[in-house]
Amino acid sequence: MAHDLNKLGLTTRSIHAGQHKDPATGAVAPPLYQTSTFAFDSCGQGAARFSGEEEGYIYTRMGNPTIARLEEAVSTLEGGAGGLATGSGMAALCTSVFALLEQGGHIVSSSSVYGPSRVVIERDFSRFGVTATFVDSSDTAAVAAAMRPETKLVFVETPANPTLTISDLRAIADIAHAHGALLMVDNTFASPILQRPIEHGADVVMHSMTKFLNGHTDVVAGMIIPASDALLKRIRASHYYFGAVMDPHQAWLVLRGLRTLSLRVKASQANAMRVAEWLEAHPKVEWVAYPGLASHPQRELAARQMDGPGALMSFEVKGGVKAGAAMLDHVELMTLAVSLGGIETLIQHPASMTHAAMPREARLAAGITDGLVRVSVGCEDVEDLLADFAQALEHA
Ligand SMILES: *Cc1c(COP(=O)(O)O)cnc(C)c1O
Repeated sequence: MAHDLNKLGLTTRSIHAGQHKDPATGAVAPPLYQTSTFAFDSCGQGAARFSGEEEGYIYTRMGNPTIARLEEAVSTLEGGAGGLATGSGMAALCTSVFALLEQGGHIVSSSSVYGPSRVVIERDFSRFGVTATFVDSSDTAAVAAAMRPETKLVFVETPANPTLTISDLRAIADIAHAHGALLMVDNTFASPILQRPIEHGADVVMHSMTKFLNGHTDVVAGMIIPASDALLKRIRASHYYFGAVMDPHQAWLVLRGLRTLSLRVKASQANAMRVAEWLEAHPKVEWVAYPGLASHPQRELAARQMDGPGALMSFEVKGGVKAGAAMLDHVELMTLAVSLGGIETLIQHPASMTHAAMPREARLAAGITDGLVRVSVGCEDVEDLLADFAQALEHA
């Protein structure tokens, strides 16, 4: 490719990054190399590939041309040193922690991270002697106070799930680095179209590509994007052996979804702005949390750090859990389902679904009230979404 993609816009990059004309046929769409292994011309070549003297593929767990295109594309969007594709977002988290932490190491994490991320850190990594402190990372002072000499990783999700609070990435990166720790950011909610944590000092970005990056609610996938060559090398070494890698077909599907990432994010964000304003004005709605609303306490920080407020919001129906459940049971166009970032609007109740594994006290401490409803606004015609909210709220 003649252009330096890094100088081009994000929409252009999401369409062209990792797109190379197939040298064998000229195919414009990426060929699907659905193979587990690659033949060598000779023993000498095999030896050269294993020793790293010669570039080339060996075995799909260690690298595959279809997967490599996706890794390049996402890394280009995030401004990273490269990408490491994983079988799921959880695999991206687990591979990173496996690669970066040792026994006795300590993690400082946002308290309202994706529910299973918290479970795996708290319940499973603790069995290997890795401890963690969970803090409200939208309070920068709380992050600083939780740092210990053995803290190796600060793990932040912003905007927070599902409370939509914003953490100051630059300030937290400075705290982490002053303590010799790395900052890893789960950028699933914003996508690189709206937020590129490496620009704010993050050392590693991870994604559940199941969400916006793929965007069509048909694939589970993840990605790790280290900011430096040294970190790429370090995590790659564990990635091979941990084995939570991607399948070429998965990569092919996510590449197809990625080409419309910018269009989808912008369309769903425009809808989300309308929905948030409409809900906030509705007499049956107690409150709405959305970084694009004037009422959001960190609206300025969001505007500084992000290129837009995104497509996720949460709100509470007056009358708490019961009224919220009555509304959720009557949505017609919207789908009552967990997950987010697809072309269709998904609505769910975290206290009984995604965050049910969290003890109620921890949930409340993380700002996840019993009646909180989370919406991932999709790309439908917004009038149809508002009509569905209107009829569903009549049942609350
Ligand atoms: C879905 C999600 C994950 C986990 O990803 P999977 O692809 O389901 O394994 C991690 N973080 C966030 C913010 C998510 O929304």
